[in-house]
Amino acid sequence: MELQKQIQNLITGDAVDDHETLQTFSKDASLYKIEPQVVVFPKQVSDIQALIKFVAEKKRAGFEMSISTRAAGTDMTGGPLTESIVIATTRYLNHIKKIGRDYAITEPGVYYRDFEKRTLEQGLILPSYPASRELCAIGGIVANNSGGELNLNYGKTENYVQEIKMVLADGLEAVFRPLNLAELEQKKLAPGLEGQIYRQMSDLIDYNYELLQQAKPKVSKNSAGYYLWNVFDKAKGIFDLTKLIVGSQGTLGVISEVNLKLVKPKKHEHLLVIFLKDLHDIPQIVNLLLPFQPQSIESYDDQTFKVAMRLLPNILARLKGNALKLLWGFLPELWMTLTGGIPKLVLLVEFAADSDAEAMRTTQKAQESLLKLGLATKLIKTEDEAQKYWVIRRESFNLLRHHVQGMRTAPFIDDFVVKPEVLGEFLPELYQILDKYKLLYTIAGHVGDGNFHIIPLMKLGDKNAPVIISKLGAEVYELVFKYHGSMTGEHNDGLVRGPYLKQMYGEQVFDLFVQTKKIWDPEGIFNPHKKSGADFDYAKKHLDF
Ligand SMILES: Cc1cc2nc3c(=O)[nH]c(=O)nc-3n(C[C@H](O)[C@H](O)[C@H](O)COP(=O)(O)OP(=O)(O)OC[C@H]3O[C@@H](n4cnc5c(N)ncnc54)[C@H](O)[C@@H]3O)c2cc1C
Repeated sequence: MELQKQIQNLITGDAVDDHETLQTFSKDASLYKIEPQVVVFPKQVSDIQALIKFVAEKKRAGFEMSISTRAAGTDMTGGPLTESIVIATTRYLNHIKKIGRDYAITEPGVYYRDFEKRTLEQGLILPSYPASRELCAIGGIVANNSGGELNLNYGKTENYVQEIKMVLADGLEAVFRPLNLAELEQKKLAPGLEGQIYRQMSDLIDYNYELLQQAKPKVSKNSAGYYLWNVFDKAKGIFDLTKLIVGSQGTLGVISEVNLKLVKPKKHEHLLVIFLKDLHDIPQIVNLLLPFQPQSIESYDDQTFKVAMRLLPNILARLKGNALKLLWGFLPELWMTLTGGIPKLVLLVEFAADSDAEAMRTTQKAQESLLKLGLATKLIKTEDEAQKYWVIRRESFNLLRHHVQGMRTAPFIDDFVVKPEVLGEFLPELYQILDKYKLLYTIAGHVGDGNFHIIPLMKLGDKNAPVIISKLGAEVYELVFKYHGSMTGEHNDGLVRGPYLKQMYGEQVFDLFVQTKKIWDPEGIFNPHKKSGADFDYAKKHLDF
């Protein structure tokens, strides 16, 4: 019997293998394309359980089969792509189960845009939402350990996951949450895979505690690898496997429910815009600004700016309000473009407070603190004007993806992080590397965290693309590692960066990643070719050019 029919007979949801569906699920926002065999839309957790048991049996009988879970499919690394079976969660597993005083319990297939509408009814948000907030869903945010413009103040998704329900490789659903040591001992006695995971993971982390603490990347944000160093907090006596599941890109099991801590955002915000001609000023600017506790320091570069001006009608369509008035608002930018006065980098520094006066006062003081550097700065007075800058920052990648004819965005050096204090040395070295390849690219990112998004644009059908991707990628990551950075602050490893994990963390730590995967997924059911299973050849074979 066909695979689709065999699966359909097991579940209450849908198992689909028509051409159109397979095409849709063969892509995310990455460089890759891989067509699955079947897409499964589970209606309930028991469907996921039945599918996992079915795949395990098939594997034991010698069939090549695996499961990759998908939320909204906006991953930039190939994370949800597979040749085998996709579990797609947004069709049915899309219910918010509860919103409490400062938390929400939700299924993984809830789009962030729907989630936030509901949480805002209680005046709450999940502050780690990514720039893809209108497109992505909770399962992906958690499994990628996503982050965004508010990270500087609030940190990433890992700080907000309080409890995870996950279906494990034996088909049973387990609940993960922080445990004290007595609770951990109880959990070790649990039957089946759950108990085995607790026993083996606590041994692995205990034996390698010092090594793991040293391996933790010394930057403010990291999505690379398995975050083994965060699981056991010795000082507090807390053992928390949610810290490992977050960011594990669907390689350890299928997340079926999440409890997320929410925060009350400050009500009033003001924006300071800084127009930078010289990137060497960045570390000094960041140092001067941090004492004022900005909630974000974001950036976009001259190329992003030019693309935004070229795609101005698309930008205006994304802004609410009178088109003519909005166009008028962009006249200074159009003038800059025509006269060649475009800054190298535009920094957006936002300050938030409980009152408008306080937010304004802090923004003014921050602006004054920069006077001695002689920079061009602008304090934004109206929300409309602030929206104009934010839309360029937030929409830059999305606009590039859809509107530059004959070219495609090529995210492969799209998310590295170094300490902000080394940016003055790091960025010129980076530009030297980039200049050799004569590519058109945009830079945007979270300057306050030292986290940059570089998105080259490459010609469709370019035969050199695979060579450039592997050579330029290798050079950039070598530089990032030289400065003790991380190759991904938020977008995660996937196919594109997984193969560099050994280089980033070293043999010994990488071996602990391999052991971790084996403990959770002894038969290799979940999302192969990602994390410790990644390799350059497989990734190269599936490049979509
Ligand atoms: C325009 C644009 C802007 C972006 N900006 C940002 C940004 O600012 N910050 C950022 O972090 N990312 C960004 N991204 C990348 C991406 O949008 C985020 O990582 C997002 O959180 C992924 O969510 P998703 O719902 O699309 O997940 P998917 O792409 O569906 O999946 C992501 C990963 O999670 C796994 N997964 C999904 N659901 C489950 C589950 N239930 N159980 C186990 N594993 C699961 C998948 O296997 C995959 O490995 C951007 C992408 C685009 C297109």
